[in-house]
Amino acid sequence: MSELNELLHAAQKIVFLTGAGVSTASGIPDYRSKNGLYSTGGSPEYLLSHNCLVNEPEKHYEFVKNNMIHPEAKPNIIHEKMAALTRNNKADIITQNVDGLHLAAGVNAQHLVEFHGNIHYIYCQKCGHTVSLEDYLTSMYHKDCGGILRTDIVLYEEAIDTQKVEKAVTAISQADLLVVVGTSFVVYPFASLIQYASPDTKMVAVNRDAITLPPQGKMITGDAVKEFEQVEV
Ligand SMILES: [Zn+2]
Repeated sequence: MSELNELLHAAQKIVFLTGAGVSTASGIPDYRSKNGLYSTGGSPEYLLSHNCLVNEPEKHYEFVKNNMIHPEAKPNIIHEKMAALTRNNKADIITQNVDGLHLAAGVNAQHLVEFHGNIHYIYCQKCGHTVSLEDYLTSMYHKDCGGILRTDIVLYEEAIDTQKVEKAVTAISQADLLVVVGTSFVVYPFASLIQYASPDTKMVAVNRDAITLPPQGKMITGDAVKEFEQVEV
């Protein structure tokens, strides 16, 4: 039995904290990584900022449309194994990813926090109505009222929804095992969530590159897909 599998089986209440590395195997590039996507017209951090949405909505729209939306992407083995553990009420998932793939994998939604939102939820900033992804991909303007559409993701300079923060903090404070997967853990406030774990909570990270962990943390450096292939649910 793999080390990760042993830890998962020994745990009563698991919290997975997931990032872009979980979705690269589904063909979604990590815009923060060296091999991730690049775009003309500014840094991803600017193009995905509230400031850009307000002052240069066309640039923001083009970046989101061309780089952030992947309707063809399918969940991979990591999403699937995690989803099965949520259906057993054994795990919660707190994700930085906005691609909706944890939901698509059949997660028990009660056990999922999409910390930065979901890019498939689109609404009009003027009238508040929701519109389909197809409508958004056709135009950045709401066809009914002319307002500018936006996705429900949390942009740079925007606050995380309080209810999501509370749900994440509650899950982490009750966990006896935290599993960090596919994130270099540099994005705040996401990375600061682990401070709410109790002192005897075990922690393990699975990532392509080693990341900085608290003293009780265990690092598994390697391909998360290979690790989760060995997980028995
Ligand atoms: Zn509207």
